[in-house]
Formats: sequence, C-alpha cells, structure tokens
Amino acid sequence: MVRAGVVVTGTEVLTGRVADRNGPWLADQLRQAGVDIADIVVVGDRPDDLRDALAFLSGVQLIITSGGLGPTADDLTAVTVGDFQGRPSALDPDLEQRIADIVERLMAGRGWKTDPEATAAAVRKQAFVPTGASVLAPVGTAPGLVVPPAEGRAGPPVLVLPGPPRELQGMWAAALADPIVGEALAGRAELRQRTMRIWGVPESELSAALRRHDDDLDGLEVTTCMTDAELEIVTRYAPDAEQAYDRLGDALVGEFGAALYSRDGRTVDRVVADALLERSLTIATTESCTAGLLAGRLTDLPGSSAYVLGGLVTYSNLAKHELAGVPMELIDRVGAVSEEVAEAMAAGARWRLGTDVGVGITGVAGPDGGTAEKPVGLVHLCVVAPGRTLSRRINVPGSRRDVRLRTVAVAMHMIRSVLTE
Ligand code: ATP
Ligand code: MG
Repeated sequence: MVRAGVVVTGTEVLTGRVADRNGPWLADQLRQAGVDIADIVVVGDRPDDLRDALAFLSGVQLIITSGGLGPTADDLTAVTVGDFQGRPSALDPDLEQRIADIVERLMAGRGWKTDPEATAAAVRKQAFVPTGASVLAPVGTAPGLVVPPAEGRAGPPVLVLPGPPRELQGMWAAALADPIVGEALAGRAELRQRTMRIWGVPESELSAALRRHDDDLDGLEVTTCMTDAELEIVTRYAPDAEQAYDRLGDALVGEFGAALYSRDGRTVDRVVADALLERSLTIATTESCTAGLLAGRLTDLPGSSAYVLGGLVTYSNLAKHELAGVPMELIDRVGAVSEEVAEAMAAGARWRLGTDVGVGITGVAGPDGGTAEKPVGLVHLCVVAPGRTLSRRINVPGSRRDVRLRTVAVAMHMIRSVLTE
C-alpha cells in the first residue's frame, strides 16, 4: 500500500489558535487518490521540530508539508526541507521575477503602497528554494515545491505546500500531476470509503454486532464513531472487497433494522429533506426551548424553501397561545413543558403556517428553572404529520447548549422516523 505522511506547520495551529484544516483535507484527497495516510504531525514554526517530524515520517512514500512558505522570518519550511534532503537553497532568479510580478499585481489591486525594499526582500525570500526542487506555480504568492532527496540519499520526496487552505487546495491538482510525486505514488490503488449511520443504538451494541460478523469483515477497515448522538460507521476497502462491504451492510440491517437509517451515507438532514421533497410535503415548527434552532437546522440545506414554510419561536406562554393557538387553559392545567402542550404546539405550527408536518418543542434548557418534577434537561417533542403523531419525552444531561443541540438532533430523527418508517 502506498502511504503518505503530512506535516502541518504553524505555531498558530499547534497552539490551537487556528484549527487545522489542511491535515484533514489532505487526508481525504489522498484517500480519493488511492493513497493511505500514515500520520498527520503538527509542529510549530521551529526548524528543529520540522526536521524531527520529517525524520519520523521517512518510511512513507511521500511527505507533504503545509505552511511556512510566506515572506516572514518565521516561514522556514522551504530551507529546512531543502537541508533535510541534502539540497541547500539558492535564489531562483526566474522565480523571483514571477513572484515580483504577482506581488505587484496584488498590491496594485488592493491599492496598497509599500516600501519597495521591504517588498523586494520578501519576494527574494520566497524565491530562495532548494536546488533541484521543482516549483509549483503560486496560487497566492508562495510557490509550492517538490523536493526529492539529493543524489545518493534515501527517503521520500517532500511536497511543500503553502499554509492558507485556499492556496494549498488550489495547488493540489498541479502537485498530483508533478512527475516526482507521480513516481512516488506509483502503484496507488483506489480505496473506497463508505459511510452508514445508525440512530439510537449504543456503541457497545454496534461493536458486539461487528464481532458477531467478524467473518464478513475480510478486506474491510471499519471505524465507528459517535457524533451528534448517532453512530457513524466508516469503512475503507479496495474495490475487490465491494461484495464484502455489501454483506456487512446486509448484516447490520439485519441486526439494527430501521435504526440503521442511512446505508448510503446520507445525513439525517438529507434523508429528511429527500423524504419531504419526494412526497411534496411542507413543514413548520413551533419552538420554545430551542427557539428557532430546529428551523435553522431544517434550512441548512440549499433548496429547503421547497418544503420549510416557516417557524414560530414561542418562548413565553402568551406567545404559545397567541402565535401557535395553544389554549391558555391547557398550559395552566398541565404546564408549558408537557406532552399535551408539545402536541398543541406541533398542531399550531401546521395550522398557523398551513403545512403538512408540524413540530412542537418545549422543555427546560437550564441551567436554572428546573424542579423535581420537571428537571433541567426535560424536553417534550411532538411531530404531527398526515395520519401520524409521534411524541417523545427526553432527559438530556449536560449544559444548556447540550440540551438545546441534542433536542434538535432528536427532533430531526423524529421527523425522519415519521416520514420514512
Ligand atoms: P503566508 O504567505 O500567508 O505566510 P504560509 O505558507 O507561510 O503563507 P502560514 O504562514 O503557515 O502559511 O499560514 C498563513 C495563514 O494560513 C495562517 O495564519 C492561517 O490563518 C492559515 N493556515 C495555515 N495553516 C493552516 C492550517 N493547517 N489550517 C488552517 N489554516 C491554516
Ligand atoms: Mg506565514
């Protein structure tokens, strides 16, 4: 198997000020290109640490670095990689001219006036590259580099890419087309990746089921992960294991039935949207403790105006009554956080907005306002659709934010369940 390692450089990434977007992006691109990713190493802007990371990764077929190509003094990647590969850096006059042209156009476009000497120094620094490296055309101002080991040295070539994600991504096609990179990755083979999603099953049950079907897993690399209260099963395999993957899917459907709600990787958001579109149904919400978060989630996908007609945020009892038509007498009798009021809110959304599907949510988000009978985290949800009503009461542990977000996830799955099961 052809493997690559990634070194993400930048003290801002190491210290968490900037979340790494290059490592994950490269990992996905490499997989799509049939290359397995061995490691992603994050280092600060320190040449010694970068050198150590390069040495650590030297068993892979290609090392990719991101960042540290800029004009500032802490941008040391090109020179450090060159030294590591036994290729001391030198000024490339042609490259200097190309970068100077780019910078001039950039400055003129922005209307900036700059000190010509400082600009020239910055340009020269970026044109100072390892001898014998091939240069990838800049997307911003920094060129990318492909630096093979010097004659007689062992080890993989190093592909040096800029840090800003837009520039790194813009250079990827050219990097893959480079002959040295192509040679390093020769023999790469398609690696498929598919996702299934399960709702409402603990991870321990999934792992027990996977153990029971151990025989079906030949050639499959299965990883499971809990996100947003659901289980994501991501499987990677070579094309000749496609049948094994189908068997795994069948086995898991047999184990979990409708809880395995997505066999093709579609998210719950997509499944709900598709179900509404296929049946030409419309939806509206009445939200109390989530105050519009569900309406926001339902409208995350483009094209949602075809089925989301609107939403009511009814935080007070009076708003529940006046906007959603919930009888005051009902609220007085059973309390605002109750199954009856959630159902009246769902019905109110349908009535007020004239939709097919209505959702009502009422609960105690906390951290205050809980009682022994109605503690923080208690939420009542109701989905009303033609010929079907689904009510649920949940108790969500955690912070106010946790309660609100988990409630929205539960609501999405209730809508899905009402529409598809
Ligand atoms: P520049 O010419 O902008 O200095 P560079 O190649 O030297 O380019 P860096 O200095 O490492 O790149 O990063 C420039 C900016 O790009 C960072 O401040 C950061 O905002 C963004 N960036 C760099 N690396 C990453 C990363 N791994 N993930 C997300 N953003 C990043
Ligand atoms: Mg920089």
